[in-house]
Amino acid sequence: MPLSKEIVAALKKICKDRCFTDQESLLLYGYDATRISHQPDAVLFPVSAGEIADILKLANLHGIPVVPRGAGTGLTGGAVPIKGGIVLSTEKMNRILSISKPDLTAEVEPGVVTGTLKQMLESQGLFYPPDPASSEFSSIGGNISENSGGLKAVKYGSTSNYVLGLEVVLPTGEVLWLGRYTHKGVVGYNLKDLFIGSEGTLGIITRAVLKLIPKPQTRSTLFATYRDVYASASIVTDILDTGILPSAMEFMDHASMNAVSSYLGADVFDTKAGSALLIEVDGEQEETRRAIERIAAVCKGRAVSMETAHGPDPEKLWTARRAISPALTKIKPFKLNEDVVVPLSKLPDLVLGVEQIAVPLNLNYANFGHAGDGNIHVNILYDARDDDEYKRALTAVDRVFDLVIKLRGTISGEHGIGITKLNYITKELSPAAHGLMKGIKHLIDPNNIMNPCKAI
Ligand SMILES: Cc1cc2nc3c(=O)[nH]c(=O)nc-3n(C[C@H](O)[C@H](O)[C@H](O)COP(=O)(O)OP(=O)(O)OC[C@H]3O[C@@H](n4cnc5c(N)ncnc54)[C@H](O)[C@@H]3O)c2cc1C
Repeated sequence: MPLSKEIVAALKKICKDRCFTDQESLLLYGYDATRISHQPDAVLFPVSAGEIADILKLANLHGIPVVPRGAGTGLTGGAVPIKGGIVLSTEKMNRILSISKPDLTAEVEPGVVTGTLKQMLESQGLFYPPDPASSEFSSIGGNISENSGGLKAVKYGSTSNYVLGLEVVLPTGEVLWLGRYTHKGVVGYNLKDLFIGSEGTLGIITRAVLKLIPKPQTRSTLFATYRDVYASASIVTDILDTGILPSAMEFMDHASMNAVSSYLGADVFDTKAGSALLIEVDGEQEETRRAIERIAAVCKGRAVSMETAHGPDPEKLWTARRAISPALTKIKPFKLNEDVVVPLSKLPDLVLGVEQIAVPLNLNYANFGHAGDGNIHVNILYDARDDDEYKRALTAVDRVFDLVIKLRGTISGEHGIGITKLNYITKELSPAAHGLMKGIKHLIDPNNIMNPCKAI
């Protein structure tokens, strides 16, 4: 049901000239990086928690769905307004409110682009480690709502490890402060963490206090190629066995490397290699140099080629790594991009298992991702114009999830459930746990207006 004239007028009163109902805006704010789309009835750009509280009070009274949106880079349809209603973009709430070097904290609005914050901090000798490959364009609010991981999670953990405090607006319009400004604190239930990774289904994050650490002095990199996927997947546990914890350990298979080389128009990777590991160690200069040499010694026996670098030189390799996801459209226009995680020792079983699932179904696929924490992006590639291929791709995903559960893994390490994985969550969650989650949702959002039909 489109919004009535009276409701649009009330929204315009709250958001002034930042409320849009024209066709272009509805089209532009109806999709995310999954390319699934559904038009909302209005797109709003509030600039304060007060405005958001007024919007939610109105929406709650009239039962209008509200879908929070950061930068729309989500890979599971979380920001897609599948029930219509209001898309509430935090794009204009993009102020870095404060950075405290002595306290090692930053206070930010949700629309701040993660890469912008990281750059500003690094110029002051500070470091905010969460680093999704989308950090140049995704927002802090989106990262918190998905509990994003990324390239540095192997050493530093995911976004949740760096969120100290959150201001959230509940569906009823109540503004709550959860958490603290300090690096430690255990008073009461940990409600802050309930909102981290809740995919915009419980409320809207309007401010965050983030934990920072001192910026590591330097980094060293090793790029090792292997004959096949099994060889690189099975060396991960040997590397960690050295006692060195790399700051990044990225895996890519032949298809991923090929796609990037063709996408960037340059031979960034050796396209003859069957797979590769891109490993980074950070810290003091001498320490990182020695660490990367020890890791190189472990890789040596099985690697086809190896290249080490110290300092920022290999930026070309990291740019190429970050480009894998968009580059895969060079193989097929669409992909089912999963972000499964398995125990580290099971990585070889996962990559071999994906091959055994995809090949008999005659599907193209590519595996890449954060091998250091067992988080592999399994991409099943397809062309949406080919119905049969799409059905086979769905069958493959279903089988990959079964495999992952059998290996004692999880079906999502960082992208969340959104709408694309909803049908699969009962493979992992027990009925009791799933029921409790639904009960919590109902308690906080009794009229089910916050991002309905997502996540649980
Ligand atoms: C090329 C590419 C690479 C990527 N690499 C990674 C990666 O390495 N690791 C990783 O974890 N992810 C990755 N992603 C996925 C995506 O970038 C992350 O999920 C990111 O955190 C989404 O941020 P966003 O600002 O775009 O959020 P959106 O897509 O706009 O929203 C994501 C979810 O958060 C909710 N939300 C947004 N803002 C708020 C708020 N203020 N309050 C409450 N809910 C809110 C939305 O409703 C939605 O459910 C990648 C995506 C792309 C396109």
